[in-house]
Amino acid sequence: MARFTLKEDTPEGYGRLGELEVPHGPIETPALLPVINLIGGSTLDSGSGWRYFRDNIVDEDHLQGIMFQAMSFLDYGVTPNTLSQWREETVREKLQADGRAQMDTPVFIDSGGFSLMNSETFGPPPEEGGPENEWDLYTDPDSILKLQTDFGGDLIATLDFPIPPDLKEEEKTERMERSIESAIRCLKLLEDPDEIKTSSKADRRSIELLKQRKEEGEEPAVFVAIHGHDYETINWYVGSFLDRLAQENISQPIQGFAIGSLVPLRSKTEVLVDIIQGAKDAIPADRRDDLALHVFGVGGKLASLLALLGVDSFDCSSHMQAARFKKYLIPNSWEHVNLDDFDTHIEDLDGGFPCNIESCTLCGPEGDLTPRELIEELNRDPTYGRDGRTKAKYYGELARHNFEVYNSEMRRVREAIESGSLLEYVMEFARRDEDLKTGLEYVQYRNSALKSELERREAYDLVAGLNIETDQSRLAEFGGGVEDLSDNRKISLKYSPNDFNILRQNYEPPAGENILLFLPCSQQKPYADSRTHSVILDRIQPARDRVHKITISGMYGPVPESKERDQAILEYNYVLAEEDKQQIELVTDRTVEYLERYGDRYDKIIAYATSKNYRQVLKNALERYGDGILLPHDPEAQRLTEHFRRENIKELMEELQVDTTGFVEGE
Ligand SMILES: [Zn+2]
Repeated sequence: MARFTLKEDTPEGYGRLGELEVPHGPIETPALLPVINLIGGSTLDSGSGWRYFRDNIVDEDHLQGIMFQAMSFLDYGVTPNTLSQWREETVREKLQADGRAQMDTPVFIDSGGFSLMNSETFGPPPEEGGPENEWDLYTDPDSILKLQTDFGGDLIATLDFPIPPDLKEEEKTERMERSIESAIRCLKLLEDPDEIKTSSKADRRSIELLKQRKEEGEEPAVFVAIHGHDYETINWYVGSFLDRLAQENISQPIQGFAIGSLVPLRSKTEVLVDIIQGAKDAIPADRRDDLALHVFGVGGKLASLLALLGVDSFDCSSHMQAARFKKYLIPNSWEHVNLDDFDTHIEDLDGGFPCNIESCTLCGPEGDLTPRELIEELNRDPTYGRDGRTKAKYYGELARHNFEVYNSEMRRVREAIESGSLLEYVMEFARRDEDLKTGLEYVQYRNSALKSELERREAYDLVAGLNIETDQSRLAEFGGGVEDLSDNRKISLKYSPNDFNILRQNYEPPAGENILLFLPCSQQKPYADSRTHSVILDRIQPARDRVHKITISGMYGPVPESKERDQAILEYNYVLAEEDKQQIELVTDRTVEYLERYGDRYDKIIAYATSKNYRQVLKNALERYGDGILLPHDPEAQRLTEHFRRENIKELMEELQVDTTGFVEGE
């Protein structure tokens, strides 16, 4: 039975060691899974460098697992006919039958969503109006699950629809909703494989295979693919998924979440950190220890920081991408050097390589080439060289070296967690690497406990927003300097609570809007465009002209909707933290004062908040004022995902007398 468990609590509570049990497991986490193209053409011999990398590494004991991209065979001229042959047996079985390699390592198979999305061929299945194709492969959970089954996945990701950063907001939402539905469908099919749609004999075979594996307790582990380009959106995503799961009454367990669509953002450390914190915070507290978190396609030198945030597994393909450009990754410096320029980096081309990783087949004890010989082989024309070996073999070995460098970092991270020194490891790394330092600063924006810990360790060079003069300037500088992803809106450091105070303006609430609705502020500005606000506003649309929305800013207190585009509102970036007692008091005071001044102009006062600090502020303010309803009445937990739960939004709709027919059941 697939499952994820934590091995032990680490002494300092940073990072975690886990074990993911899968049919060919376990996978010891945190783990790095190299991407391997198991299928590089019509036979086991096709696939040039990829094939050599595969045959070179798949039988190694130190490998925790590999990642196979389900649709990658498309890049190698595989025909519908050869694909059916590949599907008759798993690659694992073929490699073994051929006497080539005993592959005991687990295989994680993604859903191929990215390739499907970019293809003309693989549309929706015929019953949904798509054209039939001779591959018998469609962009639907049924056909992808069958493919993952035939390929022998130990761990599978649900079919998702990746979101490029520049996509229009409504299309993003539509894609994310489709991904959620497809995850639900995948779990239903795993629960009862007989539900899988069939169109051919081969299909039936996949279903029987899956049923057989289930009976033997060998069914794959499932990671639900999740998306969202900011903290709030990924909370919305996870919340919506869990909502749907509960509605459908699905008992099929999941073992983790896997965050997609990160690759275009990987150079934006601060955005990555924000999304990963969002995902982590969105997982219900009582499930955190039995759900793993995977990040697709990012890691590398950021692995230690991401492990600190609680990421359990990574995959990478850069070892091969770099090798194809003859690039050799220099251990410790994270520099990729083209081998043709290698003489400027090492003293003696006839000596050894600057790598002393035992398991590296290129530079370690098994390696039989000097750097000069490797360069000659890679530059050789025609294809066959030394001992009749092809150039491709050397590309494969170069990829192996690059992977070993990434993997040795993963090993160091595991050791650091084991010895309770991961935070120290990350601090030391951040001091010599700007990207990591930026990331570490951003972590503190949402994790004030870490900030306090760095202060306690007197690591002032790494504490976010330093140069503390007064509490207020510290607040203003806290998350500053970010460039917002969507519109390059600049966030400024210079704001303090005095830069906007509605009580000092000659403000008059609009006439006719007789219901006051308080909502907590969002990271995205203007607030109305954020996921947290738009989800609510869309649902209460029928009552909209009676509702006066006032946002509770963690920095400024009440912000009426007509002021949302003021510069000071658009440009600050601050989230109310539990430690900031003074700020909590200031925001509460201003809210009470607003209510005392204008409260009697409204017939009804409602506050909707689920995050702990904002809910507390609003609760106290309403109590002090002596009127107002705090919603949701009784959320399951005080966290952001609750904001998005239909049950909770329904309470607000009912309070506003908006028709909720069919809403909770899902439309
Ligand atoms: Zn090496």
